[in-house]
Amino acid sequence: MNQFQYVRPTKQKAAIDALAKDTSAQFIAGGTNLVDLMKRGVMSPQKLVDINKLPLNKIEKENGGLRIGALASNTAVSEDKLVLEKQPLLAQALKAGASAQLRNMATVGGNMLQRTRCYYFYDTAMPCNKREPGSGCGALEGINRMHAIFGFSDKCIAVHPSDMSVALAALDATVLVSGPRGDRRIPFVEFHRLPGDTPQKDTNLEQGELITAVDIPDGPFTKNVHYLKVRERASYAFALLSVAAALHLDNGTIKDARLAMGGVAHKPWRLNEAEKFLVGKPATEETFRQAAAIAMRDAKAFKHNAYKLKLGPNSIIQALKNATAAA
Ligand code: SF4
Repeated sequence: MNQFQYVRPTKQKAAIDALAKDTSAQFIAGGTNLVDLMKRGVMSPQKLVDINKLPLNKIEKENGGLRIGALASNTAVSEDKLVLEKQPLLAQALKAGASAQLRNMATVGGNMLQRTRCYYFYDTAMPCNKREPGSGCGALEGINRMHAIFGFSDKCIAVHPSDMSVALAALDATVLVSGPRGDRRIPFVEFHRLPGDTPQKDTNLEQGELITAVDIPDGPFTKNVHYLKVRERASYAFALLSVAAALHLDNGTIKDARLAMGGVAHKPWRLNEAEKFLVGKPATEETFRQAAAIAMRDAKAFKHNAYKLKLGPNSIIQALKNATAAA
């Protein structure tokens, strides 16, 4: 591992200043992804700004919804009474992620900022435009079974690995950030980026900006929800594909719906057209089949991930069936 400086500010402004002035610095909280990347030489920050002393771990009612501090651990959020009562889809997604030990360390902010698990990104002997812009993409012609079927570019076909982020995208969350130019709010669906020509950028955060919290509006999605994760083993594995489904049902009719997929794109993939289709329809398997067909309309596969074209619609249908039965 390279040598690096380490600072542990106790004030938010000091943390932001430390990063704003130094483009080679990184915030660190749980460190469950960043430390791995540093050990492998994939990332080499010259300075780590440890933010664990900042008071950013509250989970509270705020602005007609729930505000979750960026430093709240994944375990704390998934077991919180308010979260279980108001946003059970988020709790399910968090419990599907990683292992219990990792969830104890990992934070909400860090979960959103974790890097792709593309094998070529972690292998410094291979070309990777995300790790080293302009070097090429090892996955395009390589082993690409975990890779994207939506929104990719000829520069990068990686997927975002977070389960939590798929639920937050579905639930219309907003990310609160604070930076050298003040505070701002970013709709969750605009927080992560598609790769385009700049796959090295995962998010729309600006230099020095710190995630302080996530807001989730209260809604009717407190009962009929399901997070379905398909993976290669029962625990401690990233999603090959996942679906976050939330329904507001009234006597078997869908009043409102939220749907997003994970493991299919460089960002959590919200399924707006399928959601619109579902509203006003009966909650039946035939309705779900038609919604899944709409959701998958623009999907395109590579050599090793064509299975996702079938797994995708099947998972959407199953997640919607499970959500319907959940109450
Ligand atoms: Fe790198 Fe993206 Fe290609 Fe993977 S898919 S090798 S992360 S550029």
